[in-house]
Amino acid sequence: MAAPKWPIIGHEWAVELWQRSLATDHIAHTYLLAGPPQIGKSTLALTFAQALNCTGDESPCGQCRACRLIASGRHPDVRLVETERAASGERKGKREIGIDQVRALQHEVNLKPYEGRWKVAIIAGAEELSLEAANALLKTLEEPPPQVVLILTATSSEALLPTIASRCQLITLRPLPAATIESALLSRGVPAERARLLSHLAEGRIGWAIQASQDESLLIARQDTLAQLVRLAAARRSERLAYAQVLAQRFSRDGEGPEEVGAVLELWAGWWRDVLLVQEGCPELVVNVDREEVLRREAGRCRPEQSQAFLQALRQTQEQLAQNVNPRLALEVLLLSVPVGPG
Ligand SMILES: [Zn+2]
Repeated sequence: MAAPKWPIIGHEWAVELWQRSLATDHIAHTYLLAGPPQIGKSTLALTFAQALNCTGDESPCGQCRACRLIASGRHPDVRLVETERAASGERKGKREIGIDQVRALQHEVNLKPYEGRWKVAIIAGAEELSLEAANALLKTLEEPPPQVVLILTATSSEALLPTIASRCQLITLRPLPAATIESALLSRGVPAERARLLSHLAEGRIGWAIQASQDESLLIARQDTLAQLVRLAAARRSERLAYAQVLAQRFSRDGEGPEEVGAVLELWAGWWRDVLLVQEGCPELVVNVDREEVLRREAGRCRPEQSQAFLQALRQTQEQLAQNVNPRLALEVLLLSVPVGPG
């Protein structure tokens, strides 16, 4: 009999692996789901929690009490632990998972399941565990109580303490193909042109694509940043320096500053990778599919070596900013190296 279909977009082999474990009753106690942000790690972990506790015929049925409680985050035996900041959804609160959160979790997993078959603890963004919290968690990973499954998620296993990563069964998730994301968006009623654009911009992050299909502001911010970038390529030296200062001030702001500037530089890197692709005769591979005309124009304004040099300058700037180099200086150097064409 074929296993029931899980409501998961992509990640087929990971789903099959867990389906086999369930069918043969070989459930590991500790898993690590590794992969880039927003590719569906937490969704997959929650669906596994449903499959473990579902009482319907086709597990996970999505309809029974257990499935519904887990989907709404109210199942007494399934616990999601994350940073305050991630839980707030508004980039507020603490950026780390603290020792108190791990202790509370340990207390819970040591009790018998209330109503499910399995207690499931999902530690989302495990790279944010404080050192103290990680060391405390180690105890539970070394001797997990029976009927407990711990699922950690992180961008990579290297982001965790080796002592933690080595105790988990590693499941590595890859970014999804654009076609998979596009058809998922179409099936959710996203208009065709928008689905195509988002599926390319998402670069494999299904979570981002779904979010962007519901939240107009993400695309508007991208449009503004790209328009600014194209303007700068034709701007005078003084304007570029002025913009470097704006970015440096933004970077130095508490809290979100470095992240916002990092996102701008990421977007620029994606743009210049596209310019280079057009210059090298591979326009079908570009990410910014709604800007092909501008890309072609920009590609004609400079040589491929200049695009490559600027991409390298971008990487260097990102590294320097991460290493606390004077942000204004680093950004000025970057802005002055934006390729200027023959005009
Ligand atoms: Zn169910």
